[in-house]
Amino acid sequence: MPAIFALFLSDITLTRKNWWWSTQEALEKETPGATVVPVILSSDKTQVTLFRNKSAYPVYLTIGNLPKEIRRKPSQQGQILLAYLPTTKLEHITNKAARRRTVSNLFHACVSHLVAPLKRAGIEGIVLQSGDGIQRRCHPILAAYVGDYPEQMLVTCGYYGNCPVCMTKRDRLGEYPCRAAFRDFGQAVNAAKQIGKDEWVESCSNANIRPVQHPFWEDLPYTDIFRSITPDILHQLYQGVMKHLIAWLTKVIGADEMDARVRRLPANHGMRHFHKGITTLSRVSGA
Ligand SMILES: [Zn+2]
Repeated sequence: MPAIFALFLSDITLTRKNWWWSTQEALEKETPGATVVPVILSSDKTQVTLFRNKSAYPVYLTIGNLPKEIRRKPSQQGQILLAYLPTTKLEHITNKAARRRTVSNLFHACVSHLVAPLKRAGIEGIVLQSGDGIQRRCHPILAAYVGDYPEQMLVTCGYYGNCPVCMTKRDRLGEYPCRAAFRDFGQAVNAAKQIGKDEWVESCSNANIRPVQHPFWEDLPYTDIFRSITPDILHQLYQGVMKHLIAWLTKVIGADEMDARVRRLPANHGMRHFHKGITTLSRVSGA
C-alpha cells in the first residue's frame, strides 16, 4: 500500500480507456465518488538476482494514473520494486507433472500474499492525496499483469500453447481477425473455488484452466485476469513479427539483395544505418 501512496502523487492520465470506464462505472454504482487506481504488476524472470545462495526475480508495481512517459523510465521511479519471487525449480520433486503443479501453486501463493491488501482497499477505497493536494477516495484495482508468454500462462493458469486472453483453439492462433470469445473470468473463479471438492479438476478443465490451488486473482475485486494480460512486445512483436519477416524476405529475395536494400536506405536521424546489411547479424530485435 505505501507503494501506491507514493506513486499517486502525480497527474492522472487515461490509458486502457475501456477497462477504466467500465470499472469506474461498476464502482460508481456500488460506491459513488470513487477514483479508480489501476494497479500494474510486472515481473521479469530474466532479471535474476542472487542473495547469498538463493536466487530470486523482481516484481514491480506501477499505477495507470501515472503518465506513460514517467512509468516507463526507471530514472523517474515510476516503477516500485514490490517483491522478489523465488526461482526454485523444486528439483527434489522427481515427478515432472507434480513439480510443475507445485511451481504454479508456489507462484500463486507468493503473489496472493502481495495482492492481499487490494481485496479490502479495492472495495472500500483508501484516501490518497495527489500532487495538487486534493484528496480522493481511491480504489486500487489490479488492471494489468505484464510478463512474457510463459509468465502470462503462469498468471492466468492457462495451458501452455493456448491464448491467455481468449478461447481460440491452439491450431487457430494465427487466424486474423480472431472470432473466439474472451475467456470467462467468472467461470474460472467459480472453478478455482471448487477446490477440496470432487468437481474441482473437472470444473477447471471446463474453464480451460489448470487446477491451481487458490490463484492469486480469485478474490480480487473488479479484476478480470484474462483482460489484464498485455502483449509481450519483445517476443511477440519485435522478435515474433520481425524475425519472421526478415527470415521470410531473405528467403524470397536472397541475402545479397536483402543487404543491398538495407544499405540503400537513406540515413535518418535517430535511426541506425546498417552499412553492411543485416543478414550477417546473429540477433535482430526489431527496435
Ligand atoms: Zn486470443
